[in-house]
Amino acid sequence: MNKLTPTMKPLLINNLEFSVSEQVVSGDVELTALQRLKELLVLQVEHQQPVNIQYTLAGSAKKYSLPSLHLTIDANLPAVCQRCLNEMNVQLKLSFDYLISGAEPVGFDENDDLDWLEASREMDVWGVVEDELLIAFPIAPVHSSEHQQECIQHIKQSGEKPNPFAVLKDFAKKSS
Ligand SMILES: [Zn+2]
Repeated sequence: MNKLTPTMKPLLINNLEFSVSEQVVSGDVELTALQRLKELLVLQVEHQQPVNIQYTLAGSAKKYSLPSLHLTIDANLPAVCQRCLNEMNVQLKLSFDYLISGAEPVGFDENDDLDWLEASREMDVWGVVEDELLIAFPIAPVHSSEHQQECIQHIKQSGEKPNPFAVLKDFAKKSS
């Protein structure tokens, strides 16, 4: 399985230099480049649906006392609603600020909105995007309130409320 096309090569940056010189990079990430996320989504959905993951990474020299990166992610990921068991989209709009430093900044507070990334000459941008998506992806996705009517109707039509764990087990069998 060594068929890497140029678009699938990881995007590596010197994150300190990138921040200090205030560079910007943006684009789409293909799901094939994000194996861990892909595995999670295969568990969620039987059929392959379009996946959309866009990101923008911007460096900043002076926004904070240390060089920093600002990351925004706009993703549309397929999932199975755990209430009605129909396919749905999980939309994630995420935004992060990371301080870039060789060691954990003095007085750094993890609970703050600010994150910290170790200075690296080869930071994997897509890896960071994937990490954040894995954290943000809901454990039990359900239709949002605007689709709630639809969701409740599906439950009524199917009569008995299905057991989501039985269905997940079923998916696991099919994919193995
Ligand atoms: Zn639903």
